[in-house]
Amino acid sequence: MAKVDIKYTKLFINNEWVDAVSKKTFPTINPQDESVIVQVAEGDKADIDLAVQAAKKAFHRYSEWRTLDASQRGRLLLKLADLMDRDAKYLSELETLDNGKPVTQAYGEIIWAAGIVRYYAGKADKILGSTIPADGDVLSFTLKEPVGVCGSILPWNYPVPMFIWKIAPALAAGCTLVVKPAEQTPLTALALAALVKEAGFPAGVVNVVPGYGPTAGGALTHHPDVDKVAFTGSTEVGRIIMNAAAAVNLKRVTLELGGKSPLVIFNDADVDKAADIAHRAAFANAGQCCVAATRTYVQAGIYDKFVAKAAEIAQKRKVGNPYEEVEQGPQIDKEMYDKVMSYIESGKKQARCVAGGNRVGSKGFFIQPTVFADVTDDMKISREEIFGPVQSIHKFDSFEEVVDRANDSNYGLGAGVVTNDVNIALAFIRHLFINNEWVDAVSKKTFPTINPQDESVIVQVAEGDKADVDLAVAAAKKAFHRYSKW
Ligand code: NAD
Repeated sequence: MAKVDIKYTKLFINNEWVDAVSKKTFPTINPQDESVIVQVAEGDKADIDLAVQAAKKAFHRYSEWRTLDASQRGRLLLKLADLMDRDAKYLSELETLDNGKPVTQAYGEIIWAAGIVRYYAGKADKILGSTIPADGDVLSFTLKEPVGVCGSILPWNYPVPMFIWKIAPALAAGCTLVVKPAEQTPLTALALAALVKEAGFPAGVVNVVPGYGPTAGGALTHHPDVDKVAFTGSTEVGRIIMNAAAAVNLKRVTLELGGKSPLVIFNDADVDKAADIAHRAAFANAGQCCVAATRTYVQAGIYDKFVAKAAEIAQKRKVGNPYEEVEQGPQIDKEMYDKVMSYIESGKKQARCVAGGNRVGSKGFFIQPTVFADVTDDMKISREEIFGPVQSIHKFDSFEEVVDRANDSNYGLGAGVVTNDVNIALAFIRHLFINNEWVDAVSKKTFPTINPQDESVIVQVAEGDKADVDLAVAAAKKAFHRYSKW
C-alpha cells in the first residue's frame, strides 16, 4: 500500500486551517482494509455559520473578489488547473486511499478535472447578457450578475471531479462558495482547498467544511445567507434539500440525483463489442456511478450469445488492491457494501446469476462483478438503484416494446443504444397532446366565480379535483408520446 502524506485535516475557512468550533473530529476509513486513515475536523452548524460569513464578506460589492476583472478570475482558474496537474500523482494516491478507486483511474480523473477548470476559466469573461428590441422609447438589456454565496454538497463517488464541477462554474461567474465534501471522502477536497489558496484566490472565496449530512449539510441548506445550493447525491436527500430551501429563503437549488439507466442493444450489433460497451457502462467505478447503465436490454436474436459474453468479461474483471493494476477496488463503505450485497441476494432469488454474486476476500469492501440474466422489469434489481458492480440483463423483441420498457422508470438520468443502423439509433434518441375537449368534472361538482364589483355570482364553473387532474395528466402524457402530433 502506498504511504501517502496527509497534510490537511482541518476545516478551510477564510483561507485558514481551523479546528471545528466544537473541537470534534470524525474518522475517515480506508475501504480497502477498513482501517482508520486519519481523524478530520467535524464541521457542524457553528462552523457553517463562520464559513458562510466569510463567503458573504468575500462577496461584498467592494471586495477584492467582486472588483476583480472577469479575465483575472479566468487566470486564477488557469493557475488552479496547472497546480492540479502538478500534484496529480499525489492527489490520485490520496484519492485511492480515501475512496478505494484504482489509482490509475484516480489519476485520470484529476487530469480530466483540471481540464474542466480550464474550460470554465475560458468562460469567465464570456458571460454575456442580451439587448432586447422592446417596443417604445426604452433601452432594454440584461446584465448577468453572480448569484452570491453558493453551498455545494458533494457525494463520495468522484470526489475531485465533483468538487471541480461545483466550484469552477461558480468561480467563473464570480460567486463565493462553502463546500461540504462527503463524510466518506474529505481528504482530496481539503488538498484542493490548499491549491485554491496557492493559486491566489482571495480569502473567503472558497471554504471547505467536512462533516456529516444532517448537521453540516443541513446547516448549509437551511442557512438564510446562502443564495444557492448545488447538490449531487441520493434522491432521498435531494428531496430533503429542496424542502429545506423552500422552507427558509427559496434559495435556488440544483439537484443531480440517482439513476437506473437503460442500455439497449439491437440484433445487428457486434456481440463482442456490445458486451464490452455494456460491461464498461455498468461496472465503471465499481458501479458507483449515477449514469451507470444498470439495465441492459438485449434483443432476442443475440440474447444468449450476449449473456455468455457478458458473464465471461465480468469473470475476468480484475478486482483487488487499487494501488496495483486492477480495474476495480472496494466499494466505498460498509453501508454501501451491505446494501449492494442485499440487492445481490434479492437478484439471486428472482433472476439467473451468471457471474459473481459474492464478496472478494474477507477484509475490505470488495464485491465480485455480478451479472444477472433473465431479469424482468418488475424485479427489485431492475427498479431500484443499486450503486454497485451489478449488471441486469433483460430480453426484448421489438423496438416499440423496448422504448416503452426503457422509459418505464422513476429515474431519468441517462440512456444508451448500440446498433449499426443509424435510423434505429436516431429514432431511439428522439423518443417522446390535450384532448381539446370540454368536459364536466368527474364529480359533476361546480363552484361559483364572483364579480368583485357587485359581489354577484357571475357563473358556475366545473370544479376539478384529483380525478380530473388524473385525466388531464393522462392526456398530457399521451400528447407527449413519441409519435404524437405534438
Ligand atoms: P447521499 O445523498 O447520502 O450523500 C450525498 C451528500 O449529501 C453527502 O455530502 C452527505 O453528507 C450529504 N447529506 C446527507 N444528508 C443530508 C441532509 N439531510 N442535508 C444536507 N446534506 C446531506 O448520497 P451518497 O450515498 O453519498 O451517494 C450516492 C448517491 O448519489 C446515489 O444515489 C447516486 O446516484 C447519487 N449520485 C448522483 C450523481 C449525479 O450526477 N446525478 C453523481 C453521483 C452520485
